[in-house]
Amino acid sequence: MKLLTFKKNGRNVLGVKTEGGVVDLEKALEKHPHPEIPTDIMDVIQGGDEVLTKLKQYVASLSLDGSEAYMLDEADITFAPALTRPSKIICVGLNYRKHADETKAPYPEYPVLFNKFPNALSGHKQEVAIPKVTERVDHEVELGIVIGKKAKYVKKEEALDYVFGYCTTNDLSARDVQKRVSQWMTGKSLDGFAPVGPYVVTKDEIENPNNLRLTTKVNGEVRQDSNTKDMIFSCEELISYISQYMTLEPGDLIMTGTPEGVILGKPIEERVYLQPGDVVTVEVENLGALTTKFVAE
Ligand code: MG
Repeated sequence: MKLLTFKKNGRNVLGVKTEGGVVDLEKALEKHPHPEIPTDIMDVIQGGDEVLTKLKQYVASLSLDGSEAYMLDEADITFAPALTRPSKIICVGLNYRKHADETKAPYPEYPVLFNKFPNALSGHKQEVAIPKVTERVDHEVELGIVIGKKAKYVKKEEALDYVFGYCTTNDLSARDVQKRVSQWMTGKSLDGFAPVGPYVVTKDEIENPNNLRLTTKVNGEVRQDSNTKDMIFSCEELISYISQYMTLEPGDLIMTGTPEGVILGKPIEERVYLQPGDVVTVEVENLGALTTKFVAE
């Protein structure tokens, strides 16, 4: 199931992508009330398998041919971040062999973790301002893991049981700000610097998260094209490792690192950082393409 969140009268509303279009769940529930169907993605995630099953059954019971007022054309909706209120956004640095190679960094012995805050979240097709404090904004396509169950001291072998689903993310990075101190957070958590979406895709649709193609296009030109199988630490290893130190909560997001092809990885004379007017689309196989339009602050 592909879940999304869109804006309606300034509020976030839950939608479900189907072949016939996007179901506006709020509107569908007006016509076909059901007391146990949530209209907020965080409630779906926190409701666990029981709520997800009811949601699937509810959507299957609807008329999806496009004739009903609750069916929307995906091209017409204004996307919100696919994940609206994660209690944590945990990012993994230097998690791809070829990306570590291009930035001339040694392969880490332990996962390198840093964080973003909810101010950084942005949605598909959203405009993100290039902040005046940076001249070196870079793209990083990443597989996002959405946690589905409270996780502490999880074994690697059981780690994927704690996953709700996956999403496409872009770990936007202000390299000049990131690199001037030892801690990366300032350069990583600028407003809008965590595009997430268009969808959260439930895990039943993803056979193996450690074998997914990921790409980045800048103004239509392919810049990153790799596969999650180049990750140094797999999805299972990351979830298990993080859960040894902090309790992961339903709705938490792990951004698993980026492959080679970032602007920082080019020779200095070829580095042209993102500018107002640029359009960046990142995509992870089976999770959807996520576009960000850059504007001047
Ligand atoms: Mg990254």
